[in-house]
Formats: sequence, structure tokens, C-alpha cells
Amino acid sequence: MTATPGATAPAMGNAPDDVRRITDDRSFFGQPGGLSTLFFTEMWERFSYYGIRPLLILFMTAAMSSGGFGFSRESAAAIVGIYASSVYLASLPGGWIADRWLGLRRSIFYGGVLIALGHLAIALSAVFARQAFFLGLILIVMGTGMLKPNISAIVGDLYPEGGARRDSGFSIFYMGINLGAFIAPFITGALGERVGWHWGFGAAGVGMLFGLIVFRTREGASLGPIGLSPSVGPEQQRRVRTITLVGLSLAAVVVALAMVGVVPVNPVKIAENMTIFIGVLAVSYFLYLFLWAGLDRDELKRTVVIVVLFVFSATFWSAYEQAPTSLNLFARDFTDRHIFGWEMPTLWLQSATPFFVIALSPVFAAVWLGLAKRGIDLSSPTKFAFALFSAGVSYLIMVAATNHVIAGGGNGVRVSMVWLLVTYLLQVVGELALSPVGLSTVTKLAPHRFVGQMMGVWFMSIALGNLVAGLIGGNVDPEKLAEMPALFQRTATSLFVASFALALLVVPIRRMMRSRAI
Ligand code: GLN
Repeated sequence: MTATPGATAPAMGNAPDDVRRITDDRSFFGQPGGLSTLFFTEMWERFSYYGIRPLLILFMTAAMSSGGFGFSRESAAAIVGIYASSVYLASLPGGWIADRWLGLRRSIFYGGVLIALGHLAIALSAVFARQAFFLGLILIVMGTGMLKPNISAIVGDLYPEGGARRDSGFSIFYMGINLGAFIAPFITGALGERVGWHWGFGAAGVGMLFGLIVFRTREGASLGPIGLSPSVGPEQQRRVRTITLVGLSLAAVVVALAMVGVVPVNPVKIAENMTIFIGVLAVSYFLYLFLWAGLDRDELKRTVVIVVLFVFSATFWSAYEQAPTSLNLFARDFTDRHIFGWEMPTLWLQSATPFFVIALSPVFAAVWLGLAKRGIDLSSPTKFAFALFSAGVSYLIMVAATNHVIAGGGNGVRVSMVWLLVTYLLQVVGELALSPVGLSTVTKLAPHRFVGQMMGVWFMSIALGNLVAGLIGGNVDPEKLAEMPALFQRTATSLFVASFALALLVVPIRRMMRSRAI
């Protein structure tokens, strides 16, 4: 994942020597020391994100008597979907604000502060109103939008020369992301599920505080002038500030009206409408590109390929991002989580995904390299089709697991953790074939003047996937046991259909991409 919609050129003009001192440094595994600052900041930010995301549905569906909200599974899953997809959507204005107003560094810092305040609001909702909980989620969405794309952009700025060193910089950074995601559920799960929900949420917030401290204390020395100044002059900065403040005020009014109950809130309806909205937005954007952006024949062909990858990327994420909802509910309600007679918290199974990412990333790197040595260079649509297929098989495993539950007598029956572990493993195999390839292909295919926007489009496909995942994710329910195999089967079938459709498209797509080596 090399998210860079907020990429700005390092402040080369003022202090080229300072910048070179930073980018030439090799004190962190042969990489610039600045990477370690970004690594640990992002690790803690992801710790807080993945620490609370799976806790949300368990908390919201828990009965009021056990400290939860007593929401229906459908509503709770839809809220998780809206939350996760909003995080990705927020990275569009987040990148823009960094580019045109605050600069990368200040955006990261303010983003971190907003996230920490969000966690504080969630923690305080235990004693104050329920509204504080949702206010907290909104603050986290805004803060992550400011932090996540821009921290990746600074990683890119550490390697002005690009090439293999930059690639390995991003691989190390991706490890930081997954290390945070791996550790978090152990802590927030143990505290949230066993001690009290708000202890879990609080621990995630403490993680973000660590991240902020790391960033604040080390950024000056390790990043020098990199990412300090925005890429535009004061006039335009003022304009962006005004637009941002007006946008924020409007959003605040809508949120306030929803919180006092003037605007009715139905999470499933909102998620459905957001799905349509993003779909319409994407279609309109592509239409604009095709009809009015003055693309030449070659660019038009490559943009068609991006449309295709957009659709299949959204399909993949709609399956993968069910981890915190449907698969998490399956872990809670139908999985035997005992080891040596002790039952582990539900959330601990969430660590499987980042664990597999960390374990398999080097394997994938070696496989691509090995294939390349034999002259086999798989195209990105081939890798996408493979990823969709692997995710499809992962859901077949879930069909088998649910059939096992039913065969065992239904409600109250718990099956082995191995089902979920294999499911997550296959999804990670898909992720590693699709995620890094997707982003780099989009950057390479996009007509030059639209690269930033196309990255936004890539984020939109992930946002769409998260929403659909949220809409599907609440249907794992002991009350609807008989429907569960069909539920997972539908996801599996969609993935297989997508995989085969894409496989058929590989040859024409390769032809369309031929204009440039992809
Ligand atoms: N797990 C990665 C992250 O949190 C990527 C997730 C994604 O691209 N959907 O950054």
C-alpha cells in the first residue's frame, strides 16, 4: 500500500543539503532514519485503528445489560462499514489539505491529535452520552484522513531517486502497518472483551498517543525539512483553508442535527445510499475523463483498464473487509477458541491476517522475483484474477465451516479455529497479489496529469468494498443459521464470477496496456 494522494515534493528549494542528509542516511536497516519515525508512528496509528474496528461490532451488538448498545447485527455491521469506508474517503480531502494548505507534516500531526481526541470521546461516552461514541468515530475518520495518505506520501519523499530502495522502504513501512494491526487485538481484545469495553477502546487511544509522541519528538531530527511546506503559495492556501472550514461547519451542522435526533439515522439505509453515491461518483468521474478530459487514444485505453481494475478491486475488498464483521461474528458465536482449556478473546483471531501478511510478504517478493528470472512476468489483471479466486476459495471454506456447524446440531455448536485461520490465510494470499500491484498499476496507467486523482479513485474502490462488506457482514446470526452457508456461498460465487470474467479479459487488457510496460 503506497498511498500518496498528498504527495508533495520535498522542500528541495530551501535546503538541498539538509534534504540530502536525510535521504542519504542509512541508519534504519540501511534506510533513512526518518523511515523509523514514520514506521513507528504508523504502527501505533494502525494499532489504534485495528484495535477498535473489530471491537465495534462486538460492543454495539452486546446487550445493554453487558455494557453494549444492544444494536441489531445489521445496523452494527453497517456502522462498521460506513466507518471504515469513510476513513478511505476522508483521505481524499486529507491529501488535498496537505498539498494545498498544511503540508504533510502538520497534517500528520493534526490528524494524530484528532484521532487521539476521537478515542478520548469514545472513552468518555462510557460516562457521558452515547453520542460521544459516534462523535469519537467521526473524529477518528477525519484524523485518519489527514494522517494516513500523508504519512505514506512522506515515505515516498524519503526516496527522491525512486527505484528498488524506495520499494524496500515501502515494504518495511507495510510491515509497520501490519505489526500494529497484529499486536492491537491481543491487547484491546483482552481488555475490551474481558475487563470492560471501554478499557479496550482506551488502550487503542493510548496507542495513538504513543504514535503522536514518537512523531513529535523525532520528526525534527529525522525528517529535517521534508514535508514541511505545502506545494502552493499563500493565496491558494488561504482559499483551501476557507473551503475546508466551510465544509467542516456544514458537516458539523448535519452531525449535530443527527445527534439531537432531528435527522433520522438508519445505518443500513445510510450505507446503501453511500454505496450508490460512491458508485455514481465513480461513474461520473470516468465519464468526465472519457468525454471531456481530452485524453488521446492511448490514454483512453489505459483509463478503460483502470475502470476494470476499479470494479474488481471493489469486489475483492467487499469480501476481504468482512473480517471485522461477519467473520468476527463467526469467531464469537461459532468458533471454539479454547487453547489448553482457556478460551481466548474473539479479537485475537483478527491478528491472523496481519500475521500472515508479515509472514508471506517475503515469500511473495521471492515468487515474483523467481518468476521474473524465468521470464514469466504476470500482468496485473492476472494477479487480480488470482487474488479474486483465492478469496473465493476462502469463502468456500466458510461455507464448509457453517455446514459443519449445522451438521453438528446448530446453535451452540462451535467449530475449530482452523476454518477461520485458513480463510484468513487465503485472503492474505489474495491481498498480497492484488493490493501492492493495484496501486502501482494505477499510478503507471493513469494519464500523467490525473495520477493524484486516480489514487483517489483507488481509495474509492476500497471504500466501496468496505461498505458492501458492512452491508453483508451483519447477517451472521444464530437465529438465521440455515441461511449462513448461502450467505458465504453468495460471496464466494461473486468472487469466482469476477475472477473468471477477469481471466477472460486478461488478453484484451494486456493488449490495451501494451502502450506502456506495466
Ligand atoms: N491493511 C492495510 C492498511 O491498513 C491495507 C488495507 C487496504 O488497502 N484495504 O493500510
